[in-house]
Amino acid sequence: MRSRASLAKSPNGGSEDDEDVSGSSSFSDDRHEQSDADNEDSDLYTNEREEQYPEESSESTRARPSARGNRSAAPVDHTQVEADASLARDLGVRRSGRNQGQQLGRLHYLGLYSQPKPAKTKKALIKEEHSQGTPTTPNSYFQNLWISRKAEEDRAHSFSNPFLPREVGDVDRWIAQGPSPPLKNPYMKTQVLEVDLVQQKVAMRAQSFAPPMNGQANGIVQEWLSPNDTFQEDFSVFKTLSDDEQQAVIRREAEQHGLEKPQGYNVSFHYNPHVEYHHFGSSHPMKPWRLTLTKQLVLAYGLEYTMDCYEPRPARFDELAVFHDREYLSFLSQVTPQNAKPDDPAYLSFGFGGESNDCPVFDGLWNYVSIYSGASINAANNLNNKQSDIAINWSGGLHHAKKNLASGFCYINDIVLAIQLLLTNNPRVLYIDIDVHHGDGVEAAFESSDRVFTLSYHKYGIDRNGYPFFPGTGNIHEMGPTDPANRGKGHSLNIPIDDGIDDEQYKWLFKTVTGAVIEKYNPTAIVLQSGADSLGGDRLGRFNLNIKAHGFCVETVKSYGRPLLLIGGGGYTPRNVARTWCHETAVCVGAELHNELPTHIPYIQAFEGAENGGGILYPDLHNTKRHDNLNTQDNLHKLVTQALENLRYIEGAPSVVCNTMGLTEEQIMKVRAMVDEEFEDDAQDRGTLTVENTRRRKERGTGGRGERGLR
Ligand SMILES: [Zn+2]
Repeated sequence: MRSRASLAKSPNGGSEDDEDVSGSSSFSDDRHEQSDADNEDSDLYTNEREEQYPEESSESTRARPSARGNRSAAPVDHTQVEADASLARDLGVRRSGRNQGQQLGRLHYLGLYSQPKPAKTKKALIKEEHSQGTPTTPNSYFQNLWISRKAEEDRAHSFSNPFLPREVGDVDRWIAQGPSPPLKNPYMKTQVLEVDLVQQKVAMRAQSFAPPMNGQANGIVQEWLSPNDTFQEDFSVFKTLSDDEQQAVIRREAEQHGLEKPQGYNVSFHYNPHVEYHHFGSSHPMKPWRLTLTKQLVLAYGLEYTMDCYEPRPARFDELAVFHDREYLSFLSQVTPQNAKPDDPAYLSFGFGGESNDCPVFDGLWNYVSIYSGASINAANNLNNKQSDIAINWSGGLHHAKKNLASGFCYINDIVLAIQLLLTNNPRVLYIDIDVHHGDGVEAAFESSDRVFTLSYHKYGIDRNGYPFFPGTGNIHEMGPTDPANRGKGHSLNIPIDDGIDDEQYKWLFKTVTGAVIEKYNPTAIVLQSGADSLGGDRLGRFNLNIKAHGFCVETVKSYGRPLLLIGGGGYTPRNVARTWCHETAVCVGAELHNELPTHIPYIQAFEGAENGGGILYPDLHNTKRHDNLNTQDNLHKLVTQALENLRYIEGAPSVVCNTMGLTEEQIMKVRAMVDEEFEDDAQDRGTLTVENTRRRKERGTGGRGERGLR
């Protein structure tokens, strides 16, 4: 995660990106990106989208209407659906599978898709909802909305739907476990634009006959552009198969390549596909769509057969309030693009707005944050319950968010929430961060604790125009509080890296320092934030790492055999983020993936063509936007020496790592054995309870316990 334009945060004002000094004041300023040889998906997408919907470009934070959200609560009117279908055919809009909803959404957006109206207007329903205060059960209109959403999700969620339990009680489950009360449907407030129907029809016709703008790869760069069937014979056949047949194809894929559950440990995958539907704005670098691609790669390779897959519920308000301020949370849960007041002091003080507008307010924001946080919480619980040895949540890892502040695309710090849960079961948790940005939010949250050690590898430095790389913190000498009385002193280690570090250097650095930290600190659980913006060719990053070098970090951490929570983070070139996280999922289960991508990936075009990595899983990322390597061997050796020197602070720490009151492990175990003995005695006593027994038991009060045993 990170801010592209750190104007709001940098004291000097200005962004850290060399190219950005033109004073870009919002994400819509993408001129330099467009002129860049390594043009990004999103920019192509932006161009195209803006042509299609010119009125949208004026307000980048306005959320897209969702196909699902625009559906009516009323039962489906089949005549109407048929009419829409023929209208769609007339307009040259394809209707198939998942894209059917998207295309209909697009029609609706253009005002061309009519639908039966609910008995009451939406406005009246919202008003009614609000006047009732916080509803404990949703009213019938909302229930119907959830039911219709759920029905759609069941229909064409993904090509194999492994995340969706298909039980009878699902609808109830979704009603009961939807976003925390007040139950809101983020899509309720979607605006329908007033458009000139005739003109739009003409434009759409013209567009359906126009050749693709920049070759075939262009057509699918964002979620509601459908895969171009003429290029995708395999997938067009695949999607005509029934659910069972699709499953069989993927199972065969898994079997043929020997993918099976790992022996001796268990890996779980925590993912709620609803997180994909959210959108930060067309020119914002954060694309939840990268999660769609990741999911599709993971599923297409058959990795679902190697793990337990969970679809976690969204986190509740109270669960988020374990770390975040309630005031901040209630603001976050209520703010929408429609009611946001940029001159409201709360708006700015909570990290919204500002010149960079890194953290835009979009429709469904609360739903988005509670979903990704819910997945991290679910994953941490799985580790605590020993149901998993490695738990993965690629939708999480939003490491910049603070207690009461949104920062660097992060609103809720799911990592802190997960670590807090792990601390209920672990004396020491190690947090490792390989995002290209400093993991400042997590470091700050635990700065006064010796029970969490934070280790972050990131780009640090000032660019030639004098602007710091976001967030501007994380130098080698920043080791947490300086007060020797503070237990957190020395329990943060920062590894500042310069532009362009290559595979071998990074691997050496990571292995050496991480190994030393694990040896010294001896964590009982590890959280690894695997931000993919440290890859070569990232839209915002500055390093030159390849996918396998990034995955090497996961391999290294895994080799220590501690309970591991693996979470996502930044990553702004969606196709490579997906490749990396798919590879790292495979690393976790000990599987080797073949380089040629399976042909039945729905959005395989996103990976095809020379500019998108040539249809393989491990393209050479060095030949994209390569950064000059400013890291000399000498500098890196000095860095490691200093890092190891910093570790001396935790040398004396074990006695305070857990509140052991100065007792040794052996002494503690002795006490524990005695307590167990007493429990047994008690149990026996209960059988033959006499006055004498009671008296004796009272005499051996808790105060005497430790002393007796330890003398
Ligand atoms: Zn980042």
